Amino acid sequence: MATEVNETKEKSLNFLEEIIEESIAKGEKRVQTRFPPEPNGYLHIGHAKSICINFGLAKKYGGLCNLRFDDTNPVKEDVEYVDSIKRDIEWLGFKWAVERYASDYFDQLYEWAVVLIKKGLAYVDDQTQEQIRETRGTVSEPGKESPWRNRSAEENLDLFERMKAGEFPDGAKVLRAKIDMAHPNMLFRDPIMYRIIHAEHHRTGNKWCIYPMYDYAHGQSDSIEKITHSICTLEFDVHRPLYDWFIDALGIYPSHQYEFARLNLTYTMMSKRNLLKLVNEGAVMGWDDPRMPTICALRRKGYTPASVRAFAEMVGVAKRDNVIDLAKLEYCVREDLNKVAERRMAVLDPLKVVITNYPQGKVEYFECVNNPENEAAGKRQVPFSREIYIERDDFMENPPKKYFRLQPGGEVRLRYAYLIKCEEVIKDAQGNITELHCTYDPMSGGGSSSDGRRVKGVIHWVSAQYAVEAEVRLFDTLFRTEDPNDTSEGQTSWEDNLNPASMVKITGYLEPSLREQPIGKTVQFERIGYFCPDTDSSNDHLVFNRTVTLKDSWAKINKQ
Ligand code: ATP
Ligand code: MG
Repeated sequence: MATEVNETKEKSLNFLEEIIEESIAKGEKRVQTRFPPEPNGYLHIGHAKSICINFGLAKKYGGLCNLRFDDTNPVKEDVEYVDSIKRDIEWLGFKWAVERYASDYFDQLYEWAVVLIKKGLAYVDDQTQEQIRETRGTVSEPGKESPWRNRSAEENLDLFERMKAGEFPDGAKVLRAKIDMAHPNMLFRDPIMYRIIHAEHHRTGNKWCIYPMYDYAHGQSDSIEKITHSICTLEFDVHRPLYDWFIDALGIYPSHQYEFARLNLTYTMMSKRNLLKLVNEGAVMGWDDPRMPTICALRRKGYTPASVRAFAEMVGVAKRDNVIDLAKLEYCVREDLNKVAERRMAVLDPLKVVITNYPQGKVEYFECVNNPENEAAGKRQVPFSREIYIERDDFMENPPKKYFRLQPGGEVRLRYAYLIKCEEVIKDAQGNITELHCTYDPMSGGGSSSDGRRVKGVIHWVSAQYAVEAEVRLFDTLFRTEDPNDTSEGQTSWEDNLNPASMVKITGYLEPSLREQPIGKTVQFERIGYFCPDTDSSNDHLVFNRTVTLKDSWAKINKQ
């Protein structure tokens, strides 16, 4: 019966769903996952993928997902990061069952270490971490046993307790599992379980000066929380046997680990360590600089949570590492914003147009549709006056044949307003076009001609008198090379690949309703792209971010 269900569904299931359905078929009653960030930086789009997988699977199978901070290294971790991580997960639309910290388990982990010592499965080693590394051997050669390997359980217990009590300086001793110095998996060559770090921990303060290593802490933490499916990225597959070994040796709840391929994106660097460097060196405005791949940056830039979730869904889960085209992420945000973002008019490269037969001082309000994809979004009034701005590239003095926008003697439709005709091109002494003199057809209000003549071009505009000025930040990729680590042109590091034009600031002229636009709420500037007010924006100085352009390179590539 169960296999039948599996067979009919097989095509649409990803391999993690298959694993879960198999375990349910074998009698597993619960699905319990966890998302285990280390609070040593802000979450990025790769973490978003992991969040969507862990929370998504739990939701799909009626289970729960815990949030567990992997806070075993007091030196690199901070509450600032804890808070940001919680905020980002909530923003993505997920709720954790319980919030836990690996540090909640320090007492339990210590007791289990004592159990392993008593069983003769762990010992205190006086070698330095460097000596330990040097005697670990290689893939083809076995390692060398430590001279301290055969200490008695009593001596180990005594030393371990004194390590905990703070009797020894950093690096003086470690606790190691006693497994096999000739094991083909290097991680089994007496892995370090605890090291001494005299540092204040953001949660446990100065209670501890010995801290567990990832391999000793992670599986046991999963086990304590009775995690059924511990999902992590591919590079941890070599750790899985060790994960199982500790659980077996302790005879505790058997959590299991499963690996999927981490997300890599073109033009994007994901490592928290390097992102921290960018922040510290001032190469970006902060962790939430819209050019960063962090979740808070995507939020600031105007991405919606739905678009990030859709992206995670679209790239799916793979068993092999690959690099995803950044254009896919942009495709997802465009798709979502096209549905939800209201339309507004804004001119980013203004050319002044004087409508010579329109009365001085007159103002009219035209009704504009907020979102053609959603009638419920309603309409708004946009002021029109004698002087307006249009985009400079919506006019050409000597246009090619199929140019339907404004040209000398030609007519164009102003979106929602009138038909105008270009009568005169005004230039400065250098020959640069400074303004256009046009006439309008008073019978064409709302955009249709009274005599049925066809005018093909439609352009957007803003009233020069009523427009509000804003700083508009146009973003491009932070790196100019598809692979940030590209060294094919003699670059010495990824820093050489930073894109000097990744942020360009211009002044835009926006229809007045945009003065009230809430920070982070994205609109479509008609015919241009999606934009939202930045966190730097204020009443005195509006700042808008470009979320994404309208042009969709991915859809185009896919059609070819
Ligand atoms: P980084 O190397 O970017 O600093 P990390 O793996 O050290 O990331 P953690 O805080 O340890 O960051 O990660 C929390 C979870 O997110 C882990 O389960 C990890 O496997 C997952 N994760 C991290 N980066 C990615 C990625 N690029 N794609 C998918 N999952 C990821
Ligand atoms: Mg990590």
